[in-house]
Amino acid sequence: MADKKETEVYLKLVIDRNKKKVVFAEANSDFVDILFSFLTLPMGTIVRILANRSDPSSRKANIGSFNNLYASVSNLDTMYFVTKECRDVLLSTRSSAEVQCRKLMINIDDVKPTQYFVCDLCIDKYKSGSYASLYVSTCSTVPCHHCQNFLKRAIDFDDDGESVFVAKTSSFVISDDLHVIPNNPTSTLGILKSCGIKDFAALEEINTLKLGSSEIFHLLECSFFSKNALSDFYFGKKLKSVEVPTIEPSLRTECTGGAKKITFKVYVQKSTNKILLAHCSEDFVNFLLSLLTVPLGKVISLFPGDHESLNIEHIHQSVTKLNVGEYLKSQQLKDMLLYPKLLSQYFCPSHIFPLEEQNSLYKYLKRTSTAGGRDFYSISLDSTQSYKYLSDISPISKIGGGFVRGPTKFMVTDDLVVTPLSSMSCFAYLQELKVPLNDIEEQEIHFGMNEAVNLLWASLTSTSALSNGLKFFILKNPKQETSVNKPSAERSGVKLEQGHF
Ligand SMILES: [Zn+2]
Repeated sequence: MADKKETEVYLKLVIDRNKKKVVFAEANSDFVDILFSFLTLPMGTIVRILANRSDPSSRKANIGSFNNLYASVSNLDTMYFVTKECRDVLLSTRSSAEVQCRKLMINIDDVKPTQYFVCDLCIDKYKSGSYASLYVSTCSTVPCHHCQNFLKRAIDFDDDGESVFVAKTSSFVISDDLHVIPNNPTSTLGILKSCGIKDFAALEEINTLKLGSSEIFHLLECSFFSKNALSDFYFGKKLKSVEVPTIEPSLRTECTGGAKKITFKVYVQKSTNKILLAHCSEDFVNFLLSLLTVPLGKVISLFPGDHESLNIEHIHQSVTKLNVGEYLKSQQLKDMLLYPKLLSQYFCPSHIFPLEEQNSLYKYLKRTSTAGGRDFYSISLDSTQSYKYLSDISPISKIGGGFVRGPTKFMVTDDLVVTPLSSMSCFAYLQELKVPLNDIEEQEIHFGMNEAVNLLWASLTSTSALSNGLKFFILKNPKQETSVNKPSAERSGVKLEQGHF
C-alpha cells in the first residue's frame, strides 16, 4: 500500500459554549481506532512525532523528561553505543502494531512502513493451493525455503476497508476527559449528569467536526497535558506543561520475584532533598533508553490503578471495559492495545519491567484485489478462512536491551539528560546549579521494580524525573522529613551509604 492519502475523520460534539466545555463527543469506528492507536506507539515515537509536527506554528510539546532522554540519544556519540544500529533504532522506534495501524484512516506514526517480500516463483503455487505456506521476509536477500531463490517480490498492500481495533459499525461517546464508552442513551445520560447539566437549552451541537492529521497530533498532545482534553482541543486552549498534574505518589506494584536491581549513586541537595544528578554505569542508562522503545499502552499498564490519572490513561481504562466481539474485534487486538508487546529486536529478557516480545507482526496473507495485472494483499495476525499461512524468515538482529556499551560511566541530570561522565563535567554542572558543596551529599540507590515504576511515572509527567521519581527512596534531611511526614517504612527500599563531599 502506497502512502495513504491524507484523509479526514469526523466527530460530533455537544458543547456548552458559555462554559467553553465539550460535554461529550460522538464518534464512529474510524475515529476511535485512531484514538486507541495512541496506545500502540512507543514512547520514543510519541516524543519524535510531537517534536516534528508539520505545523511550525504549533508549540513543541515535551512529554515530561522523555524529550531530554530522546535528545540524549541523538547527542551521544556513536562510539558509546554497542553498534550504530543501537542508536538508530532508538531514534526511529517502531511499533509492534505497525501492520494494523497502516489501515487507520489517519496514521500519525512517521516511520516508513516496513516492506515485505515473497518468492516470485512460489507465489502462484501458493495461490493455487499447492503450497500450504508462503515464505515472507522483511529482507529481499533471504532465500525462499521452497526453491532457494531470493524473496524479491515486494507485496503490494491493499486496504480491505475493515476497521482496525473496534467493530466497523460500532458507535461511541467520548467524555471530555477521554473515557470512551458505547453509544447508548444510558451512557449519554450518565455523562450529562456527571457534568451537572440541567438545562438542555444551554447545549449546542457541532455536527461534523473535520479532523486531519494536525488535529490528531493536537489531540494526542491534549491527552497528555490536559485535564479536559476535548474542551482544550476544541476551544484551542494553550497547553502548558505545568498543567500536567503534579502527582507524586509512592506507586507500589508487586515485585516480580528475583527481579534484578541496578545500583547507582545520586547527589542529593540536603536542604531541598532534590536529586541534582545521578552517576551510573551503562546498566541504568540502558534501562532509561529502553523506555523509549516501550509502547504507551504497556507503560500505562505498569502503573497501579489507584492514582490520579492522565486523560491518556482513561483511553486505556476504556479499552479494558469494552467487550470483545461486540465492540473490540478480537482478544488479540484488545491485548495489543492494553499490553502492546515490544518488537523482538528491542526485547530484553532481564528487563526490570515484565515486558513481552512480539515475534511476528503477521501470520496470514489474503489476496484482496487485482488491478492492472498486480495482486494486492492484506496481512494479518488473526486467521480467518480466506487468509493463508505465512512463514516469517525475517532476519532479526537482537539488541537485547543493551544499547550503550560498558564499562562506561554516565551522568544523568534530574530532567534525564544523559552524558558520558567525567569529573570535570560533573563539577561544572553542580557549579552551574549554584548549590554549595556542603549542601550536597552522595547516596546509593538500589533500583528495582518499585523504584522503576515511580521513575517512569515521574519521567512521563515531570521535568524533575529523578527527584520526583526517587523521592521515596532517598534518605531525607531530618528537618524535611518531619514536614513531609512520611513513615520511615516508606523508605524501606533504601540502603544508605552516605558519603560526603
Ligand atoms: Zn520460492
